[in-house]
Amino acid sequence: MKALIKNGIGFYPPAYEVKSIHILIEDGIITKLSEDEIKVAADVKVFNVGGNLVIPGLLDCHTHLSQSFGRGIYDNLHLTQWLNKMIYHFNLTENEVYLATQLGCIEAIKSGTTTIAEMTTAEPYDEICIQAIADSGLRADVCSALGDFQEGENPPPELNADQVLEEMRNTYNKWQGACDGRITVRVSPVGLPACTEELMRGSRDLANELGVGIHTHCSEGEAETANAYERFGCSEVEALERFGVLGSDCQLVHCIWLTEHDKQLIADYDCSVVTCPSTNTKVTDGMPPMPDLFKLDVNIAIGCDGEASSGTYDMLQEARMVSLLGKVSSMDAVMFTAEQTFEMITKNGLQSIGFDTRVGELKPGYKADITVMEYPSPHLIDERRLMSNLIYSATGGDVLSVFVEGEPLMWKRELTKIDEKVVVAKTLEAMRKATHLMP
Ligand SMILES: [Zn+2]
Repeated sequence: MKALIKNGIGFYPPAYEVKSIHILIEDGIITKLSEDEIKVAADVKVFNVGGNLVIPGLLDCHTHLSQSFGRGIYDNLHLTQWLNKMIYHFNLTENEVYLATQLGCIEAIKSGTTTIAEMTTAEPYDEICIQAIADSGLRADVCSALGDFQEGENPPPELNADQVLEEMRNTYNKWQGACDGRITVRVSPVGLPACTEELMRGSRDLANELGVGIHTHCSEGEAETANAYERFGCSEVEALERFGVLGSDCQLVHCIWLTEHDKQLIADYDCSVVTCPSTNTKVTDGMPPMPDLFKLDVNIAIGCDGEASSGTYDMLQEARMVSLLGKVSSMDAVMFTAEQTFEMITKNGLQSIGFDTRVGELKPGYKADITVMEYPSPHLIDERRLMSNLIYSATGGDVLSVFVEGEPLMWKRELTKIDEKVVVAKTLEAMRKATHLMP
């Protein structure tokens, strides 16, 4: 099947110059990109984007979409208190999990995201969560937040290491390559504070056997990081190295309480780091040392995390925060330029996930995962400074249309796969009844 996205303007790397852009798509793949108009046969589906800004679809590299139901419930809590509340009280019904996840998908699509790395937090309904994502049309690399060790005052885990690994294998068997390859799976011990050495070593063995990567929280909270010292006599990153977890297929989420040695280990093992600035600031995780990791050439991607901690699935807002926090925490005004930050939400995201499929850039041979932003607008206006406008001034609210593999998930602000009005109305009704969620 052929499609044409015509009459846009777009960035042309490496200098990100703004020029006209026309994109020919065949079977979901970009086959031609041109500044000049592309002539096509009458049977080709044409999307005229009318001079608006065309960018690669954004990659959100860490989400817990079902937590969209928890937005605002657990405000004004420090991470340790927040974790206790979440684990004791945040038990959604099957219907709530589906609605909450679709609500998260709507927000992601409407703000220009085309790929998510979802760590489900909906036990025992993780399957429902993945199904809701599959139904949305988003591209997703999915895993479940599973542990086998009692963390702090949390309830004891229900599964041992073998049972957790079996669940991960079952998820892989059911979902790897589903929806014509749009859904992939990775191995995800939730994080060392809630995992045993046995589970961490088993996760690496399973990831190697299945040929997939590992996704795990790492060094997020000060107290949680200190607990790792008590249990293992070393930092979380050092323990992960000892258990064989670190590698270029490893996404470490947060990475705040790092020693200098930890930073060097992350660089030496070529791990990717996913930073989640709204969560890190809102639940007072701490200041992520991304500038130090950047100077060590670590691949940095960005995630919105769950809305119960971050309050948003808008990647442009997260990108803006990463750049601003990077500048002020390093007191270096050239840290995290608009162009460098844009790469964190596009090509760096792909590198962190390690898909075989190519997304995150507009190039022949890449999947046609594409976002269209309203242009010109009061805050997206100067062609010579458009990348700066995009990172520092635009938000997800400027997104008009979103494509995955050349198929619109949203066209002119109308969703095509999800009935937004129905999902919002049903979710509001469910939220009003959900007294079981209140702390
Ligand atoms: Zn998380």
